[in-house]
Amino acid sequence: MIPRCTRPTCVNFYNPRGDWYKEAGTYSNNSGTYRRFYCKDCGKWFSERTFSIHHYSHYEKDFKKFAKDISETSSMRALARKYNHSVQSILLRIMKLSRHCLAASCIFEENLHLREDLVSDGIENFVKSKHYPCDYNILVGQDSQYLYGFTWSLMRSKMKKTEAQKAKFNKMKEGVDYNTFTISEGFNALFQQMLKIVGTKEKFDDSSVLTILDTDKKTQYANVIKKSVEAQELIEKNEFRHDVTSSKCERNRSNRLFAVNYMERELRKGLKEMVRDTVCGAKNVCMSLDRFSIFAFDHNTQKKFRINDPVSDTHVRHAHIAGLDAVLIYKYSKKVFTERFFYSDYKKKLNPFQTLMWLRKIPTPQEYSKQFVPNYALI
Ligand SMILES: [Zn+2]
Repeated sequence: MIPRCTRPTCVNFYNPRGDWYKEAGTYSNNSGTYRRFYCKDCGKWFSERTFSIHHYSHYEKDFKKFAKDISETSSMRALARKYNHSVQSILLRIMKLSRHCLAASCIFEENLHLREDLVSDGIENFVKSKHYPCDYNILVGQDSQYLYGFTWSLMRSKMKKTEAQKAKFNKMKEGVDYNTFTISEGFNALFQQMLKIVGTKEKFDDSSVLTILDTDKKTQYANVIKKSVEAQELIEKNEFRHDVTSSKCERNRSNRLFAVNYMERELRKGLKEMVRDTVCGAKNVCMSLDRFSIFAFDHNTQKKFRINDPVSDTHVRHAHIAGLDAVLIYKYSKKVFTERFFYSDYKKKLNPFQTLMWLRKIPTPQEYSKQFVPNYALI
């Protein structure tokens, strides 16, 4: 059964009805032989493979294993060696899988009924070189450690430099945009997403509708919340509260920032570029965020919530604890790794930061050429 035509302007893209396509032969590649079809209305050609995750690639690989490898400290070259591909081909697969993970996270957000408090923080790393430190701003569930969202901010280097180094760096940072992706902007984008989630909070057991957001003492966070009219209204209605905890407090289970500290630990041991003192680093911001998006999906839906009791093996994931429907999680855990996701279906659901990620419009310092976006990613 062919689900739709692949031309967004065709009537059969959204509402294929009746006998709208015609079978027309087969074609073969390295993975097998596939039936071909064309749309009777617009004449667009497509095949069975057009609707699978393997569209526009010659070889079929297990994307589930691939996602596991990315979130278990595999570097790009290690993946290229393992799968016997070029690094470029590995990057294209990561871009594709990342878009699927973004689309799935939108569906999860739509179906969410928040029932816990939230914690937010920035995980510091660097991109391109240590002269360009950055923050991956994350929003995590206090009880479930579900990663609700993330954004990215570029920071100014705090490294001590000699006069000669200063002169060299001043030249390097010419043309680098420090004003668009600031910590305030990054947190603001995440906070807007949080306000949407807070709106879905329902009474669960004896809990109230009050949602507490815990952060560290960064002044940018408090300023963003102070400026938000919507947040101030929620505070007045006693439906939202912002609590601060010093990031110097002992990092144990009773710390209110435990969820982000736990997430940082997972990231530092999971993503190769985040590992302390690694020789690997992200060369491109968009690629780095693509890997982050795959990591987030793997963490939320594939990793077990706690492995304290391996004998009972309850298969509980972070998304289950966050309150998402088990059938939905199972459905998308399969779909993300096998089916094709169309941009036209999700462009209204993606938040502004996710749209920038999908269209690869987040600039990397010292890189001035446009990022490559395949045409099939825009259908
Ligand atoms: Zn058509």
